[in-house]
Amino acid sequence: MRIFNCVICGEFSFSLICKKCKKLIKPQIKYKDDVISFYDYENIEFLIKFKYKKFGNFIFKELSYPFSVFSANYPQKLNVIPIDDKTKKGFSHTAILANVMKKDKKLYSTLHSQNEIKYAGKTLEYRLNNPRDFKYTGPKNIDAVLVDDVVTTKTTLNEAKEVLKKHNVNVLFCLVLADLRY
Ligand SMILES: [Zn+2]
Repeated sequence: MRIFNCVICGEFSFSLICKKCKKLIKPQIKYKDDVISFYDYENIEFLIKFKYKKFGNFIFKELSYPFSVFSANYPQKLNVIPIDDKTKKGFSHTAILANVMKKDKKLYSTLHSQNEIKYAGKTLEYRLNNPRDFKYTGPKNIDAVLVDDVVTTKTTLNEAKEVLKKHNVNVLFCLVLADLRY
């Protein structure tokens, strides 16, 4: 068995996040308009920063747990579209979140941005002036749910929905780790 230093507190642990810290990042489901979020951003901010780092895939796997529970409890089989699930540093964080939704159909690599501009730390105005320019290549005339890591201003989700609408893809709701609008 491997022994790690917990990425949060640094104590020795049998996983990347120790038992004590796992309790601190306990999911708390929230709904705001059509966005369902699973964590308070402040609790997982540190972990989300691993997105493009070593072990980022393990961290996201750890955080993905509520997505699997949601999927298991949702009465219908869903079409799941992970937003912009391009592989960076060997993994895609949105694909990891979608992957644990076992009973559902995952539409991987169907909704990719054609603009590589980074939004982190940018203003709403900047985001609106620099759209993601999504391209959808998945099936038309379906209902689907979107998966993303964090909602900041909803610009990305709204843009994704606009593009999907043109393909007659009706977005039922969006599942995210955290919603910064609270
Ligand atoms: Zn810890």
